[in-house]
Order: sequence, then structure tokens, then C-alpha cells
Amino acid sequence: MTSTLQDTATTPTDGGVPELTHWIAGRPAPGGSGILGDVTDPATGAVTARVPFASAGEVVDAVAAAKAAFPAWRDTSLSARTRILFRFRELLDGRADELAAVITAEHGKVLSDAAGEVARGQEVVEFACGMPHLLKGSATENASTGVDVHSVRQPLGVVGIISPFNFPAMVPMWFFPIAIAAGNTVVLKPSEKVPSAALWMAELWREAGLPDGVFNVVNGDKVAVDGLLTSPDVKSISFVGSTPVARYIHETGTAAGKRVQALGGAKNHMVVLPDADLDLAADQAVNAGFGSAGERCMAISAVVAVGDVADGLVERIRTRAEGLRTGDGRRDPDMGPLVTRAAQERVSGYVEAGEREGASIVVDGRDVAPDADGQGFFVGPTLLDHVGTDMSVYTDEIFGPVLSVVRVDTYEQAVDLINANPYGNGTAIFTRDGGAARRFQNEVEVGMIGVNVPVPVPMAYYSFGGWKNSLFGDTHAHGTEGVHFFTRGKVVTTRWPDPSERGLDLGFPRNG
Ligand code: NAD
Repeated sequence: MTSTLQDTATTPTDGGVPELTHWIAGRPAPGGSGILGDVTDPATGAVTARVPFASAGEVVDAVAAAKAAFPAWRDTSLSARTRILFRFRELLDGRADELAAVITAEHGKVLSDAAGEVARGQEVVEFACGMPHLLKGSATENASTGVDVHSVRQPLGVVGIISPFNFPAMVPMWFFPIAIAAGNTVVLKPSEKVPSAALWMAELWREAGLPDGVFNVVNGDKVAVDGLLTSPDVKSISFVGSTPVARYIHETGTAAGKRVQALGGAKNHMVVLPDADLDLAADQAVNAGFGSAGERCMAISAVVAVGDVADGLVERIRTRAEGLRTGDGRRDPDMGPLVTRAAQERVSGYVEAGEREGASIVVDGRDVAPDADGQGFFVGPTLLDHVGTDMSVYTDEIFGPVLSVVRVDTYEQAVDLINANPYGNGTAIFTRDGGAARRFQNEVEVGMIGVNVPVPVPMAYYSFGGWKNSLFGDTHAHGTEGVHFFTRGKVVTTRWPDPSERGLDLGFPRNG
């Protein structure tokens, strides 16, 4: 629904689809490269807009605008900065449904899910409203005789954010509220599949009174990303996307001397122990496996059934999955389409491969009849049983509504399975045994863990991030780690000597 964008979508007079813009220095900047990509409505398959792909020169322009805005923004008082954050928060709160509609129109997720995404992003804005407290340094009086020490944290300068298609609003909001509140200026490169949410938020920032150039959006693909990665004026990169690209971003960005946090893909396991409440576990497996059509980095994709729970659990998941309604996200179904035709074909291909490699197909979503008009990109909920760890449905991140059940005999085998997996984003254990849950959270090599919670996304005041191939760099998103990422520490040692204390002493300073 790009129609809600006021200035960043121009409707051509020839009846074609609107052409989107970039957002540079507080205003829309029409694309100048001549290269445009299609933006589609995944529920209908229709092309709804064209998005300009920035040239290297356009990235330079956006970075220059952010660089020019930095000194004044850094020197703007903390209370003035946070007042703008509060205003952004209020505006977002009042118009969350509008942003949710923009997300659904390009991503396909159901409206309630899109609203949930906006709410989780808004939590980070609320966290960042507390920046005056978060930026407080520490002070020590009389660290040595007559010597005081204090620490401050200062913004980096221009920071780059590169986001994936699956959370067009929330993932950028993991970073930019904190970056901006801490005094940085931002260039955001959203996914070319879902560009409108970023432009919508740029317009909201303008309404909130953010000075021109503090928040910029460049649309595009690898050219735009590489422009940010190699620009000497971009001090840090916050990336979220697939593992191969995350690895590339980390290697290239750090080689260029930047601070980089690069969050990658995932393969999240849900362990169900024999003492678990199977109805609860089945509910949560379905919610976490098929919510947002499985296009969440915290989606559950492998259910690890321990001991004799497997038959009962599979049966319970089957009945629930078969009852789900798939359709256009604006018509209140349980599940929407996948983001593109290519994603639909890739996911169906994995189901075929699973079948070929010996998994049993319990629920087949390839022949779903969605409640939608046109030629949308649908795959219905799919449940595979007897999945082996050598099958591609297990080894690869499918990023679709496919739940694989892996059967193991013991708790130890379940933990070994998770720890042998190259990803380590999220995992969950379902049990009534507190001791087992406690052991699990201690032993498992994963960044975010749920105990009877299938999608354990941390609150804004904790930090979000996985281990192993799910995160390159050592700083997680938002929370205090986010504040640290977007600031640099400085320690000041001060003495106000009495004139009587003059004199030469070339020894290394010691405390006295
Ligand atoms: P993607 O890696 O294809 O794209 C992410 C961003 O990188 C986009 O802005 C894209 O334009 C850009 N990009 C793509 N290819 C590039 C290249 N070769 N060089 C430079 N830039 C490139 O990811 P996606 O398909 O948009 O998103 C889905 C992936 O993101 C999944 O793997 C999912 O697990 C992951 N993800 C991870 C998290 C997390 O927190 N770990 C959160 C959300 C999504």
C-alpha cells in the first residue's frame, strides 16, 4: 500500500506503477542510476511499484548528507534529541496500523503479524528514549592524590544499516533509534523487496522534527551496500540478512576499518522432552513454525522429539497445521504468502528434495488453495517427519512454512544435534522439568533460548543476537550492547595542581 507514502512515491501519468525514491538530507531524492527493481504484492503477484537502485555516486550523496548533519546533531543536547525520539514514538504509536499495512503490502505477512513487528520495533524506540541515562559515564574522585577520572561515551559519526526483507520496519528499528539518540547520523539501505516501510519511517522522522540529514535511506542492491562498506566516512555497519552475505559484510567492513555487527541466518530447534505438555508444545510448534510463513530468523524449523513423544506430537501438529487458513494477509488468514515467486519455488523445491531423500510428508503445503486473488506466492503449512540430519531440509535454512521433525532417543542426543549445527540463533526446550531446562540453557551453544517459549526474542532492553554462523562480530543488537556499538568510550584523567607541586619526574605515572 504505497499510497500512504506522501512524498516518496510518484505516480506516473501513464497509468504505470509508482516509482519510489531515496531519502537524502530530509527529502525524497529521485533515483538517478536508471536502474529500477520491481516491488511486488506477494499475495497477488502484481507489481505495485518500482524501486530505484542507487549508484555508487548516490550513496556518496547520502553519506555526505549524513556527514554534514553529524556535528550539529552530536552537539544537540540530549534532552532535545530525546524529545524528538519521544515525538517519533508518539507518531508511530498513533499510525502503527498504517505502517503495518505498508509492510503487509510488500512482505505479505498478515496484518496482525505486521502490527506485532511494528510494536516490537517501537519498544526499541522507547528504550532509546532513555538515552540520557544510558549514556551516563562514571566518575572516580581522588583516583590518585588530587587526581580525578571520568568516562564518557561519544557517537561514532555516520553509521550504516543494511536490513533484510523479512522485518521491513522492526530490524531497522533494532538499530536506528539507538544510533540517532546517541548522536549519530544514519544511512539505511533497506531490502529492495520491501523498500516502502523505510521511506514511510523517514517521512515520520521529518514529522517528528528530526533535522535534515540525520536519517537517510538509499535503496538498491549490492552496489549500494558496497558503497556503504567502502566509504571512509561510514564508521560502522549494522547488517541483518543471510549468512553468506553477513560473512561478506563482516569481512569487507572490518577490512575497511569499520565496526561491524552482522547478523546472519538461522536453523532453530525446538526440543520436546517426554514430560512436556504435548498440546502446548504442538500449539507453539505451529505458531513458531508457520507464523509469518516461516520467514522469521527466530522461526522454529526443526522439532526435535525426544523419546516416545514423536507420534503423539506429530499427530497434534498435523491436526493444527491442517486447520490453518492461508491467504492474502489483508483478509485475516493465519498465514500469508512467501515474499517472492523465487522464494515460493525454493521452498517447494526443498519439500520435493525432502520427499526424495526419505522424509515422510505429513502435511503438504505445495497444493494449498489460498484465499487470495491473482497469482500470489503461496506455500501452505508443511510438516515433514522422520527427517535425517543429512537431508537438505535439515541442513539448509529453508525460510518458509516447513516444519521438520527429527526423532532422537535422549536429551543428550538433542543437545549434540543443536551444538553440531553451524547456526546458533535461537532454540527452545519444552518440558516440565526445571532441572532439565536449567541444564539445557547452560549446555546449548545458542544465543537466545526459550524455556517453554518457542520464539525467545529478547526485549529491547536486552540484546538480540545469535552465536556461530548467526552473528559475525561480537556485539548483539539493541539493549546496552547496542548503545556500546553506537558509541566510543573515552576516559579523562584530571588534575588541578597547586603551583607548589611543580617539578620534573620522567617516571611512569604511579598512583599515590
Ligand atoms: P539477504 O542476505 O539476501 O539480504 C539482506 C540485505 O543484504 C538486503 O538489504 C540485500 O539487498 C543485501 N544483499 C543481498 N545480497 C547481497 C550481496 N551479495 N552483497 C551485498 N549486499 C547484499 O537476506 P534476506 O533474504 O533479505 O533476509 C533473509 C535472511 O535474513 C535469512 O537468512 C534470515 O535468517 C536472516 N535474518 C536474520 C536475522 C537475525 O537476527 N539473525 C533477522 C532477520 C533475518
